[in-house]
Amino acid sequence: MGQNKAEAGDTIVTIHLSKTKLWEVDSEHPQESGLFEAAALLQAGGTVAFPTETVYGLGADARRTEAVERIFEAKGRPSDNPLIVHISDRAQLAELTAPLEGASAALAAQLMDRFWPGPLTIVLPVKPGAVSPRVTAGLATVAVRMPAHPVALRLIAASGCPLAAPSANRSGRPSPTLASHVRDDLSGLIDGIVDGGAAGVGLESTVVEVDGDTVRILRPGGVTAEGLREIAARVEYDAVAAPGAGGTATAAEAESAAAEVQTPRSPGMKYAHYAPQGEMRLVKGELGAVSAYIAAEVRAAQARGERTGVLAFAEHAARYDADCVLAVGSLAQLESAAQGLYHALREFDRRGVQRIWAETCPEEGIGHALMNRLSKAAGHAVVYV
Ligand code: AMP
Ligand code: MG
Repeated sequence: MGQNKAEAGDTIVTIHLSKTKLWEVDSEHPQESGLFEAAALLQAGGTVAFPTETVYGLGADARRTEAVERIFEAKGRPSDNPLIVHISDRAQLAELTAPLEGASAALAAQLMDRFWPGPLTIVLPVKPGAVSPRVTAGLATVAVRMPAHPVALRLIAASGCPLAAPSANRSGRPSPTLASHVRDDLSGLIDGIVDGGAAGVGLESTVVEVDGDTVRILRPGGVTAEGLREIAARVEYDAVAAPGAGGTATAAEAESAAAEVQTPRSPGMKYAHYAPQGEMRLVKGELGAVSAYIAAEVRAAQARGERTGVLAFAEHAARYDADCVLAVGSLAQLESAAQGLYHALREFDRRGVQRIWAETCPEEGIGHALMNRLSKAAGHAVVYV
């Protein structure tokens, strides 16, 4: 892990890039020993990446500013983007949050009953002084979630800390769904990585706030709007989280649209995210037109000597003839596409792809979060054919 060889004259010098420990843990039967060491590092103010059912998180004690600062440093994350606090027990809520009033309190409790542990983050009033101001970015609220991964739950409980844990990637890069993705981004920059295999959902949690009888979606994610509607009388979207938000015809228009999104209620929504290194475009329209457009674009780019990539649903992958065609999962089973998305984006980077065209899917169920991430990965550049 994290070793590089550099030649100095005739001597081969091995440089240890990494102070990062790695523990492999069986997700079904998490062993205490590795987790205990990881928990001790967290108690000591360290940073440890761990699997959750959404993506890998980079955890630190949410109460300690110097620990939380290490997360921002390792990720290169903008300091006005607040962090989600992860808990393993609802009793921890009383230490972190001030009570909600009336109908909001009842609805928040119902959401927790139904979706925790699970991929739902709820923005709640923060108890003054309970977490570092670096976690809340100075807001009067704190975003809290109880993850549904046995390793995450055990680690949080063993550490005895509420864990601030954003995705364990360098800021702007696709989120990690495997421990090897974390290693690629953060080896040498964090204290440890708990490897518990592949994360489950593959996309981040849904972030919501509760207002009376209304649930407002600030970021679409693993819990769908349809699922929330089973609990809440009203489900609304914050503007930047709404289906179709950000769709524009050209990259230039996308830039000016992004500039207009100044103050979303969830500060992280304004940042570029999940982006592969190559320039990516989404192509929307009837399937025949989409594949014809992409085929022509691929030919033109190849003629210019560019390395091309296509992100397609498994059902359509055979239609394309680019340097790198990746099947992201099945259109008939969008959960599989969600699981595969970030790995595919990282794979384009690994293969040095410079131009990427991606198919789109209906914004229903998990398809909404999938399109939200794809659209951000493409800098909101969508071509309608
Ligand atoms: P990440 O940690 O990368 O999964 O991103 C966390 C998301 O939750 C970002 O979009 C944040 O802006 C959002 N978030 C965290 N805390 C709050 C909060 N107190 N109010 C609103 N959004 C928040
Ligand atoms: Mg993230």
